[in-house]
Amino acid sequence: MLMCRDLADIASDYIDGELTSRQNLSVKMHLMMCKHCRTFIGNLRASTEMMKAHSSGRPNEEFMRRIDERVAEALKTWEPEDGDKN
Ligand SMILES: [Zn+2]
Repeated sequence: MLMCRDLADIASDYIDGELTSRQNLSVKMHLMMCKHCRTFIGNLRASTEMMKAHSSGRPNEEFMRRIDERVAEALKTWEPEDGDKN
């Protein structure tokens, strides 16, 4: 069972399509039930595409650092839903 933190670890490989089909499936299943990770992947994908567009192939260090900061920020405000707060 994939946890949010596991997903954060492999998220960039997922976006790059570098996961095995089995990992890929676990990510998709996790995304189906976890809206935090959907948001996270969405942001990360947008950043990745922006980066590719801006730096023709070669990752820009400053930009990478900013993405790292955004990811760290997202993880800090992470609030997994318990689901049963009645
Ligand atoms: Zn999650």
